[in-house]
Amino acid sequence: MNVFEAVKQSVTTRQAAELYGIRVNRAGKTNCPFHNDRTPSMKVDKRFHCFGCGADGDVIDFTAQLYGLDAKSAAEKLAADFQIPYAHHKRKELVKKPVKKKSEEQMYRELETWCFKVLSDYFHLLRYWERAYAPKPEDETWHPLFVEALQKKDHIEYLLDVLLYDSIGERAALIEDYGKEVMKLERRLSESGTGAERKIEDAGREPALPSHRGSQRTSGSER
Ligand SMILES: [Zn+2]
Repeated sequence: MNVFEAVKQSVTTRQAAELYGIRVNRAGKTNCPFHNDRTPSMKVDKRFHCFGCGADGDVIDFTAQLYGLDAKSAAEKLAADFQIPYAHHKRKELVKKPVKKKSEEQMYRELETWCFKVLSDYFHLLRYWERAYAPKPEDETWHPLFVEALQKKDHIEYLLDVLLYDSIGERAALIEDYGKEVMKLERRLSESGTGAERKIEDAGREPALPSHRGSQRTSGSER
């Protein structure tokens, strides 16, 4: 997931405005910071819109205008200030690599690394959502991302533990069982892509997973 997507998915304009010291009233309105505003003319929620001067946009536009930054720097500032994880990869670099014929073992190792990376990105996002969307006493309903964090965090942590500490047999079994789920997760997390889709396609063509569970470790195949 690139920095723009990660930020937009995780932070509302209202949260950013409040973090940057702009007071938002209960109706979600504030004095517009972009024109000389005597009454609260700006509505801030996921996006913002000023009924006085017409300023309008998403959380990245808001931060860019507030600090005089370009969109990329504004997104990076938000990611840093809200501790939002995002992928730094660029698709082009990954696509350019020459395609060599890979050994079964090599493909498996890549598959495992990819699984771990997607799950760990998701886990960090869940932890962030759990903090950022924790219900306040006045909230009548829980934010869906907070609910998702509660529901999924322990399970994802368990999967990461397996990938980190269990034998290759256990890990291969996990990837066989959860590979499709991880693919869906990656699609959701990333619009820019990290090249991992290709890996799993490559892996699907040949029997990439050790067919016999609990097989002996082969030399150099480990983390
Ligand atoms: Zn305005």
